[in-house]
Amino acid sequence: MASTDGNISLRLDPRRILTSPTSISKGMMTPDDMVITDLQGNKLSGRRNASSELPMHLLIYQRRPDVNAICHAHPPVATGYAAAGVPLNKAILSELVLSLGCIPVARYGTPGTAELTEAMEPLVQSYDAILMANHGVVTYGTDLLTAFFRMETTEHFARVTLVTELIGKQVLLSGGDVEKLLAARARYGLQTAAPTGPECPVTSETAEPERITLTRRELEVLVEEAVQKDRSRR
Ligand SMILES: [Zn+2]
Repeated sequence: MASTDGNISLRLDPRRILTSPTSISKGMMTPDDMVITDLQGNKLSGRRNASSELPMHLLIYQRRPDVNAICHAHPPVATGYAAAGVPLNKAILSELVLSLGCIPVARYGTPGTAELTEAMEPLVQSYDAILMANHGVVTYGTDLLTAFFRMETTEHFARVTLVTELIGKQVLLSGGDVEKLLAARARYGLQTAAPTGPECPVTSETAEPERITLTRRELEVLVEEAVQKDRSRR
């Protein structure tokens, strides 16, 4: 998190949320900076004010009774994918299929407005980590460490995905591989909301055909060869 970016919150009990305040570096925060609000966002105690991004946290607490903690940040690689509108949904890491399944992108909404919460709403029920278009990432879980680890996992997965894109090659797991992992997920008792289907995660069978890049000269040589072959056949 750069500067005063990001915010975290925790469900204290059925009626109260403990949250980081607005405009503070999370590294310089002390316990008495924290703010307590109700589930509608009204301040109950604290000398500072809650973050303007609190409505997004409240939406998640309202829609997900299983969630007790939320982490919102702008980690640079995952946020890069959010800014590109590209979901992290490919079955390239067994651990990620096991843990988060895949990470979708919520369409853009102005921070701190209903536009943002409306954009997130369709995804909150089905995923535990969401890329927020042109903004950042939100992750959540049963406790604060789970929410935080999911943020770390999202950024880590974004970095690994970026490396495969730099190398120019991704080997996707097959639908059969994914099925075995999902069976293991149940066996290990791993909890994740992520649905499964052709889009989540994308497997070797459901992926778009491989893309390759050529230099202009390489393309010219291929075309010349094809023309030569065609001529010699006539
Ligand atoms: Zn933000």
